Amino acid sequence: MGLVLVGWLASGCASPTPEAALKLGEACSSRVPEAVGATLSSATLPSVAEPPQVDRSSITISALGDCAIGDLHYGAGAPGSFAAQLAAVDDPLSYPFSAVAETLGADDLTIANLEGTLTHHKAWQNPVFSIRGKPEYAQMLRLGGVDLVNLDNNHSHDYGVQGHEDTKQALTAAEVAYFGRGTVDRRQIKGVEVVNLGYLGGPAGTRKRVVADVARERETATIVIVSFHWGVEGFYATHPDQRALGRAAIDAGAALVLGHHPHVLQGIETYQGRHIVYSLGNFVFGANSQPQDMDSIIYQERFHIAEGKIESVTQHIIPVRISTDKTQNDFRPVILEQDEAQVVLTKLQKLSDA
Ligand SMILES: [Zn+2]
Repeated sequence: MGLVLVGWLASGCASPTPEAALKLGEACSSRVPEAVGATLSSATLPSVAEPPQVDRSSITISALGDCAIGDLHYGAGAPGSFAAQLAAVDDPLSYPFSAVAETLGADDLTIANLEGTLTHHKAWQNPVFSIRGKPEYAQMLRLGGVDLVNLDNNHSHDYGVQGHEDTKQALTAAEVAYFGRGTVDRRQIKGVEVVNLGYLGGPAGTRKRVVADVARERETATIVIVSFHWGVEGFYATHPDQRALGRAAIDAGAALVLGHHPHVLQGIETYQGRHIVYSLGNFVFGANSQPQDMDSIIYQERFHIAEGKIESVTQHIIPVRISTDKTQNDFRPVILEQDEAQVVLTKLQKLSDA
């Protein structure tokens, strides 16, 4: 099916919910009545049984693509680098997410892929493409409204086991949760069990593991979200392996599949009433000061929950350029408006149709 790219799009239900008419930027609180028929009075209508209370809520999740909050090993401090940009601004820790923090702070959960490490460790695995930021940069995520990051990607061990352990410690100190590489994030949001699983998409055997993990988590959780670091860098077309893996996760019970690694946007598929966001592109991306493509999105999905089950989902796509400066990356994503927004939405529509 085609995407409706402005406002919320209902999916997986027979008729659009009232939320489908919400406009960009509107608050994401529940607009569904808490109790249907609560005004009936047993005194005035003694013969009418009170309808059962329907326990309803809605949960809004935002997703971001690749976030590298640091520099390539040999790039730190060079003109135009992430470190150089931070040195030039008043409040470096709040700077990268400052134009999107309000949006990301208004949802129930924001998930990103953390590409790289947060460590002072000096031994690196691949000197050319190793990504490292200072441990205190974890606060950028917290200040930006990012609650949870995937760590199962090809840069998590750029600075070895020590670098990975330092990264986890830095995130915990900044109160940012993480998942992937065997770590499962389980949390309650508005009384609903939400689980996040993360995988590197390539290795053989991933599919079997994903299906087993999703099926296990679905026994207790209402919403299971699966993140995959997959696909081919720089490719706008999805790979058949991505489609097979994403659909297998949905078939096993996943409510949403999020993808990253290609560093550019790929399409969004609706499959069995659920969504597979094949690639979210880059977001705050310190490891490349001159990316050829700066188009991105904040992907939002709202889950409408009734009596412990997902009744329907609605999606909301917010077009973004990953840099305020159009000529080179200044590592501060901005929400696009009007014509600029439409260009990104049209591109995403074409990718999704393909
Ligand atoms: Zn990657």
